Amino acid sequence: MAADAQLIYAMQMDGPGRPLQKELREAMPKAGRGQVLIRVSACGVCRTDLHIVDGDLPFPGQAVVPGHEVVGRVVALGEGVAEAGCKHQVGDRVGVPWLGWTCGQCEMCLSGHENLCEQARFTGYQIHGGYASHVVADARYVFPIPPDYADAEAAPLLCAGLIGYRALRMAGEALKGARPRLGLYGFGAAAHLVAQMARFEGCDVYAFTREGDAAAQALALQLGAVWAGASEQAPPDLLDAALLFAPVGALVPLALQAIRPAGIVVCAGIHMSDIPSFPYAWLWRERRIVSVANLTRADGEGFMALAARCRLQVRTHGYPMAQANEALADLRAGRFSGAAVLLP
Ligand SMILES: [Zn+2]
Ligand SMILES: [Zn+2]
Repeated sequence: MAADAQLIYAMQMDGPGRPLQKELREAMPKAGRGQVLIRVSACGVCRTDLHIVDGDLPFPGQAVVPGHEVVGRVVALGEGVAEAGCKHQVGDRVGVPWLGWTCGQCEMCLSGHENLCEQARFTGYQIHGGYASHVVADARYVFPIPPDYADAEAAPLLCAGLIGYRALRMAGEALKGARPRLGLYGFGAAAHLVAQMARFEGCDVYAFTREGDAAAQALALQLGAVWAGASEQAPPDLLDAALLFAPVGALVPLALQAIRPAGIVVCAGIHMSDIPSFPYAWLWRERRIVSVANLTRADGEGFMALAARCRLQVRTHGYPMAQANEALADLRAGRFSGAAVLLP
């Protein structure tokens, strides 16, 4: 039906450095074996989308629809979904994250590191994502969302919240004291959620932003940070751990100088500019630098359970789906605080 055709569309990336194009689809996408078809109700805009669109990450080789913070409702089940032990039903609200498929057989998959599977396929990168009216996903990699969150609020949970959660757990060993001090470098979509999780778990939060970013610093303080300042500033107390969400390599030596011996610096982004050289003394005394890559399905379950117990305030900045290019440009320029969300 012609009227319906207008409602089936995607914002597609044809190549790096080019604006996304709105493509109308003739027919509804089909859920294949083990897949679900989802009508998108909100899709978050993640910094990784920007890295893909700008060509910081290798182009997947064919046109792709970005978006891996997808919230929607199941409208059709492919064959074999029920047999795969998947409980999703038509009408259920689900989220589709970055991790879209893994081989299930390699050493990484079999040792609890499916996030590092060499053959993993990612939503909005090798698999069409949620900058669209509809998306098809492998039923085993989508999960339910706590009912307390509206669709737009839930979208940033799917990556900003999840990757933030994994980064926080990565720093866990350094956060076992009585009132652990956690630094967050880059106070955007992920950090504003992690700040609340960390507070909920008893940490004092220190927020580091671009110099003069009064809006981000004000948001951090409003969400309970004990201190907010510029990344170049030394915090008033040494930190136990620091999570880096800004894609700026120069933050690594800064964060190392802000943590105590045996403290941990976690780099949470998928892409970062080069890390400048620094004196070994800044790393010595068992300070650690680690990176976080992708997520596992266990992270998804752990994080959604935490998000249900600790009702996160999600600061969203909404855009119509057709204005995905504007949302990406605003993210690139740092023109809003919180998380951008596209609404079909
Ligand atoms: Zn694998
Ligand atoms: Zn992401």
